[in-house]
Amino acid sequence: MEMKTKCIKCGYESENNLEKFRTPLCNICFRFAPSTEEKFKEYVSEKIDGNLLETFRKFSEIGNLQKKGMIKKASQGSPMSRPPFGYKFENRRLIPSQNFREIEEIFEEFLTTNISLTKLAKKHNLSVNGLKKILTNFTYIGKIKFNNQIHEGSHQPIISSTLFNHVQNKLERLGIKRK
Ligand SMILES: [Zn+2]
Repeated sequence: MEMKTKCIKCGYESENNLEKFRTPLCNICFRFAPSTEEKFKEYVSEKIDGNLLETFRKFSEIGNLQKKGMIKKASQGSPMSRPPFGYKFENRRLIPSQNFREIEEIFEEFLTTNISLTKLAKKHNLSVNGLKKILTNFTYIGKIKFNNQIHEGSHQPIISSTLFNHVQNKLERLGIKRK
């Protein structure tokens, strides 16, 4: 009978029986594991939420993703570490949360009015930085930005690409976002 083992780094359970330095790992964490024991210890001590790796787990061609970018991004807690506002994790999938419509409202309001970022942020209980992150987050159109590349995600978009692109143009026009 196959036994499931739990990846020490991300908690993902699988039957792949991969291990390094006698430590069970999932296929992704295995792939990115350093080859010296010292570095390896450091590597496994930095935990990653297995949910975050879900999008990438399905890419068997994980070689396309550069190792450093992935590990850094995931452990820094940048956009990948928590579900973005408007989404939640359910059964390891990113799905729209109850407040998902608020995202569209924010995009619409930014695009169609002259409200300042500060006021718009306040209105939605966000920091200005948090608001900027939302307005430039590709997750909302069903994509995943990883290692500075845009990948097609497997989750449901919550705003249209048209709205998103218009907002990007306005952000650039106002000098809020660099081209
Ligand atoms: Zn893992």
